[in-house]
Amino acid sequence: MRKMIFVIILVLGGCNKTSQNDQYALAQQLVNQNILIDGYIDLPYRLSKENTDVSLSTSVGDFDVPRAKAGGLNAPFMSIYIPAEKEVDGTATEYANQLIDRIEDLVTAHPNIFAIPNTLQQLNNQVEQGKISLPLGMENGAAINGSIETLRHFQRRGVRYITLTHSKSNHISDSSYDESRPWGGLSDFGSQLVMEMNKLGIMVDVSHVSDKAFWQVLEISSVPVIASHSSARHFTPGFERNMSDAMIKALADQGGIIMINFGSTFIINSAIL
Ligand SMILES: [Zn+2]
Repeated sequence: MRKMIFVIILVLGGCNKTSQNDQYALAQQLVNQNILIDGYIDLPYRLSKENTDVSLSTSVGDFDVPRAKAGGLNAPFMSIYIPAEKEVDGTATEYANQLIDRIEDLVTAHPNIFAIPNTLQQLNNQVEQGKISLPLGMENGAAINGSIETLRHFQRRGVRYITLTHSKSNHISDSSYDESRPWGGLSDFGSQLVMEMNKLGIMVDVSHVSDKAFWQVLEISSVPVIASHSSARHFTPGFERNMSDAMIKALADQGGIIMINFGSTFIINSAIL
């Protein structure tokens, strides 16, 4: 059975043609020998906005089957992304269900191409069958709506990680983007939620949370946590959205991982743009 990896392959700028070919061959070897996972793809949101058949090549967006196959991508997490305003207007839970429906529709339309895994074993089996396995990750815990029963509901629907908050502080956690920090990290419910997620096997995602919330999560969580799409603050001083070296080391010490977001706004110091 192939090992599961979260791969970051860097092709260094300025290298000559031969070394580029070597690195391409190494990248192909890595993806052929391992299960390639992407921690965050915004396909559900895209499918909610446009009627696109991603089983075919598409001219917009960053995901379709031909490109996924060409790149050796086996298991991209589908982001159930909840805009911050959905918590304010009370529609976050309903909206999350609608986005999961879109992915279930996709699997129904193309059962030979896609599947949603409930367990690691199922993910492995789906990849062995040549399918693209689509685990679900929820970006913004607003949809939990202060209810552990709702958390269980989304666990049953396949959600396997939750990014505690997004662009605004919510009822769970302060956000790195928000000047308003009502909780000084996690709310009381947020602390309870982390423990319940541990019990249910839903990974805690610290991308987007404030530094205080990050350190509290590490204190509370009994299992490793992830950063599904963060980058290194070392290269973007003062940009709290990214993680400091100390945070990255502490995450790793607990067995967690950080997946790097390559969007240029996350890796270039805006002060020097
Ligand atoms: Zn994000």
